[in-house]
Amino acid sequence: MLWPGVKKLGKELNFKRTDFEVAGILKNCFVKLYDGRNMKVLELYAPQMDGDDKNDVIKKLESRKIKKYDWLSNGVKITFVEILKPYSMKKIRDILDELVKYFSEKYPEQKSLCQHCGEEGETQIYGINNVSMLICDNCYRQYTRDIEKENTEQTNAPNNFLFGFIGAILFAIPGIVVTTLFLIYLERLAGISALIYVFLGILGYKKFKGKISPAGAGIIMLAGILMIGIGIIVAYCVLIFRELGQIDFDLLLYVLREPEVQKEIGINIALSYLVSAVYFFLQFRQLFREWKNIKSIQKLREI
Ligand SMILES: [Zn+2]
Repeated sequence: MLWPGVKKLGKELNFKRTDFEVAGILKNCFVKLYDGRNMKVLELYAPQMDGDDKNDVIKKLESRKIKKYDWLSNGVKITFVEILKPYSMKKIRDILDELVKYFSEKYPEQKSLCQHCGEEGETQIYGINNVSMLICDNCYRQYTRDIEKENTEQTNAPNNFLFGFIGAILFAIPGIVVTTLFLIYLERLAGISALIYVFLGILGYKKFKGKISPAGAGIIMLAGILMIGIGIIVAYCVLIFRELGQIDFDLLLYVLREPEVQKEIGINIALSYLVSAVYFFLQFRQLFREWKNIKSIQKLREI
């Protein structure tokens, strides 16, 4: 998201925005600004940037005590580190103005190049998957075609729900061992082992190429519900054999019919479902993001 400081400066400069950046042209430079974790970032692309230019840029940055910067193709990425308080937007504006002045005076006849093909043609800023880029008309057409193709492929990808389900079940099987160990050594805390079924289930579903979609999430959940139940019951059987000191199925059935034992198993299954539900919904957000991962190219919008 965009924080107010970057948004305000973007507005002052008549920039436009994607979901995460403000971007625009200043004289002959393509500029974008965005927030990071404990930092603000300024990217500036000039028509060209040779060794002398880089030295001049370094001098300007150092005179303002800006230490963190990286070189981009014909550009520089400056990171303004924020410790405890936000970095002054005025200082960012000042260095931006200074750099733009430098490049516009040094290369007055040139404009910023297409960031994709490097040609100097008619360029416009587009948000490509929410990242702003300066590209020419040809590259715009190419991107549009590629993105449409990719999106169609993703939508038409085979569902593979059955394989995904099998994968989720198979991968979750080692979870039973974990549940058994938890039950033997930690008793009531066995419910925590339910996390592993969700984790392994998602992994197995993906490995078996199950399609990420709402139905896919439902299938992962179904596999989890099954395997958690099976895991607890198998773990109790092992525990009972262990206490009996022998593997006797008649005795096992006798013990399992005891109301107290059934209650105990019921409580453990309920606790496991509770734990796994919380974890599943945390994971579900990630799955949802992957599912929503439709590629896009569009003009930037007003701030
Ligand atoms: Zn191009």
